[in-house]
Amino acid sequence: MTVMVTGGAGFIGGHVVLALLDRGEVPLVLDDLSTGSRSAVPAGVPFHVGDVGDMKLTSRLVREYGVEAILHFAGKIVVPESILDPLGYYLANTLKTHALLNVAVQTGVKHFVLSSTAAVYGDPRSIPVTETADTLPLSPYGRSKLMTEQMLADVDAAYGLRHVALRYFNVVGADPDRRHGQSTPQATHLFKVALEAALGRRSHLDIYGSSYPTPDGTCIRDYIHVSDLARAHLAVLDHLRSGGASRIFNCGYGRGYSVAEVVEAVKAVTGTDFEVRRAPPRPGDPAEIVADSNELLKLGWEPELNDLRTMVDDAWQWERKLAVSRTTEQIDPGISPSIPI
Ligand code: UDP
Repeated sequence: MTVMVTGGAGFIGGHVVLALLDRGEVPLVLDDLSTGSRSAVPAGVPFHVGDVGDMKLTSRLVREYGVEAILHFAGKIVVPESILDPLGYYLANTLKTHALLNVAVQTGVKHFVLSSTAAVYGDPRSIPVTETADTLPLSPYGRSKLMTEQMLADVDAAYGLRHVALRYFNVVGADPDRRHGQSTPQATHLFKVALEAALGRRSHLDIYGSSYPTPDGTCIRDYIHVSDLARAHLAVLDHLRSGGASRIFNCGYGRGYSVAEVVEAVKAVTGTDFEVRRAPPRPGDPAEIVADSNELLKLGWEPELNDLRTMVDDAWQWERKLAVSRTTEQIDPGISPSIPI
């Protein structure tokens, strides 16, 4: 029973590939390497470089490998970028998923899991936010994912493709065994920026917005360790395989941290001090978003790494490993795998 992982050379998809392998499943990776890295795919895992919107390619892969389930991560994920390039986001996240769903239906794939996002909620009226809350996304990114969720529900109603949409909160950290982490070049997410500042690769960190209606004025997010998130995919796959209904699940810890708290944790864990500047708020950023993930917990998902320092430390150890491999490459490009930073 092969599980196709689109975007499996990326940050989240790559951790899900590891989680699948760790419990003896058979993954197949499809990734266009636009942000992912070839070296993220473990040896022995079939890996095809290509576009999820290429129906000829995806139907060939589904047939050739006997794909039973598709876990769909390939897509674009940066809120500010989506405001500048909405058509790029609707193409990557919505239209290409349309093509993939077409193939899934035509070839009889049984289960489909969509990487969705808390950005579908926009600025929620009450915290923690449940799956039944209103969906009023503030950005093209959130809308592109919400449209995809809606398309998936219609596809299920018409053709019976059972699915789960997992609405991720802020995914951070790295594999505790140091096999994988965030390697996307020019990543703009808070953890990445803070750790690069700690490494001295950035002159400073900007805090976007300091007068939000939160205790310290900076935005609050529910940060979740990527390896716990990866295991959530196994839980929802089991749910679908055992005949469970199509569902939407939040995936967070139900505990928020402010930007200022994250920056302090990064300084404490890394033992560094870097300059922090107050900058204007970023368009499309809600003040606070924290998950109610009780539905996922009821399914048997058990978070194991829900501690801010653990999340920072795992991400930090990965950053240091990347920095070492980059230095080694500069000495001799042939002696270490190429991991773009
Ligand atoms: N943020 C920040 N400085 C940065 C990057 C992010 O202040 O250099 C803030 C951002 O405004 C948001 C929070 O950190 O309030 C999390 O942003 P991130 O980009 O990590 O994830 P998002 O919530 O956009 O998915």
